[in-house]
Amino acid sequence: MLNIYEQEEVICAEGTLGQGRKVFVYWVDGMLIDTGAEKMQESLIPFYKKYGFDQVVLTHNHEDHTGTAAWIEEHLQKPIFVHQNGVALCRLPGEYPKYRQQTWGGRIAFSPLPLPKIVQSRHHTWKVIYTPGHAGDHTAFYNEATGQLFSGDLFVSPKTKVMMATESVPEIRESLNKLLATDFRSLYCSHAGYLPNGRDMLQAKLENLENLTEATIDLAQKGLSALEIRDRLLPGAYPIIAFSEGEWDSLHVINSILQEGRPDRGAESRDNVAETARLVLKVFTPEDAHAARDFWGDEEVMKASGGATPHSALPQVLDGYRKCQLEKGLSVYAVVEKSTGEVIGAAGFNITESDGRAELIYHFSRNSWGKGYATEAVSACIGLARQHPNTHLVHASADPANQGSLRILEKTGFRSIGMKWFDDTLQHEPYYELPV
Ligand SMILES: [Zn+2]
Repeated sequence: MLNIYEQEEVICAEGTLGQGRKVFVYWVDGMLIDTGAEKMQESLIPFYKKYGFDQVVLTHNHEDHTGTAAWIEEHLQKPIFVHQNGVALCRLPGEYPKYRQQTWGGRIAFSPLPLPKIVQSRHHTWKVIYTPGHAGDHTAFYNEATGQLFSGDLFVSPKTKVMMATESVPEIRESLNKLLATDFRSLYCSHAGYLPNGRDMLQAKLENLENLTEATIDLAQKGLSALEIRDRLLPGAYPIIAFSEGEWDSLHVINSILQEGRPDRGAESRDNVAETARLVLKVFTPEDAHAARDFWGDEEVMKASGGATPHSALPQVLDGYRKCQLEKGLSVYAVVEKSTGEVIGAAGFNITESDGRAELIYHFSRNSWGKGYATEAVSACIGLARQHPNTHLVHASADPANQGSLRILEKTGFRSIGMKWFDDTLQHEPYYELPV
C-alpha cells in the first residue's frame, strides 16, 4: 500500500487506496510536504520514524493530504504549516461526504500555523506560491536553486473533465500561469507523483483549459444552456459523478467558466467589494478571525486606537461588520494582499450616524507596514463611500504622534479641520473630513 522511492533527493511515499487512487507524501531536505490520508497512517508512521523531519508544510486542507497531521502533532510535536485561509478549517474536525471518508478516512482537527512567504528547510529555501482554484488555501512550493516544484492538487491530470462545485477553471488557469512563470523543471504532484517533464504537463493542462473555456463561451454565445454545453463538450458518464453523488460533475467545470467575471461567482468573489493594484477589499468571513489577531488583536497596532481586541471577541467583531455590509451597504472590510491571498489588515467605515457621515478606520498587521498599503486601501474605501447613496461626508482622526497616519489622510484628500477630543483614546486628536 505504501511504495517508497527516491527521485532527485526527494523521498516519495506513494500510497494506493480504494479504486487504485494514489496519494503522495514527500520528504525533502528534512521537510515533509503533505501528510497523506488517514487510511495510510499505519504505513506512514514507520516512514516518519525512519526519515525524521523538522517541519511539515501542507499544500491545502483536504483530508487526503492532512489525514495524519493530528498524529504528527501529537506524537512528533513538529510545526505544521498551511496557508492562512486553511488555518481555521484545519482546527475543526473534517466533515466530508461518505464516499470521501470511505476512500481516505477522516481528518482529526489539528492546529497548523499560517505559512510564511518563504520556507527554509535544512539547506534550501522554498518560495510559497498561493495557487487557488482547487481549494481556497491551495499552495505550491518552489525551490529556485534546484528547479523543483511541489504543486499539490493543481495538476493531477492534463485534462479536466469533472470537478467539485467549489473549484474554478478561471482560478486554476491563473494559478497555472503563476507557476509557469517560474523556472521550475521537475514537478511533484500530490496525486500523479514525480513528473520529470512537469513543465510540458502543466502547459498541456493550461492549453486544454483555455480551449475548453473558448469552446464553452462560444456555445453560450450561441444560446446553449450550461447543461447543453456540458453534453456537447464533456459528454462522458464519468464514474466519479455517481460515486461522489454529484459532488464531482462535469457541469461544475462548465458553470465555473460561465460564471467568470460575474459578480456572483462563488462566495469568495461575491464578497469582494473593491480591488487596487496590490490589494482586494472583501467582506469579512468567520475564517478571517485568525488573521485579525495580527491587527485588531495586536497591542502594538492598536495602542493609539483604544487597545487590542481580545482574540475571543474577534469573531463577533467580524460578524458585526459583515451584517453592517448586508444591511447598510458600507462597512469595514478585510484587506487581502493579492500576491499571497492573506488578510493583512482592515479598512472601511463605521457608520454610526444617520446624517450621512461615515468614520474611516484602517489597521494593518505590523509585517505589512511601510509598503504603502494603507494609502492604497484608503483610496479604495473613499471610492466605495462615493458610490454609497447615503454617505455624504467621511471623517477620520489619528494619533497626533502617528505622522505616517496623518500623511495617509492628507495624501488621500482629507482636509484638516483641527483638534477634537475623543473619549475612547482619551486625548485630543487631529480631525479630518472629506465630502464624498
Ligand atoms: Zn485536494
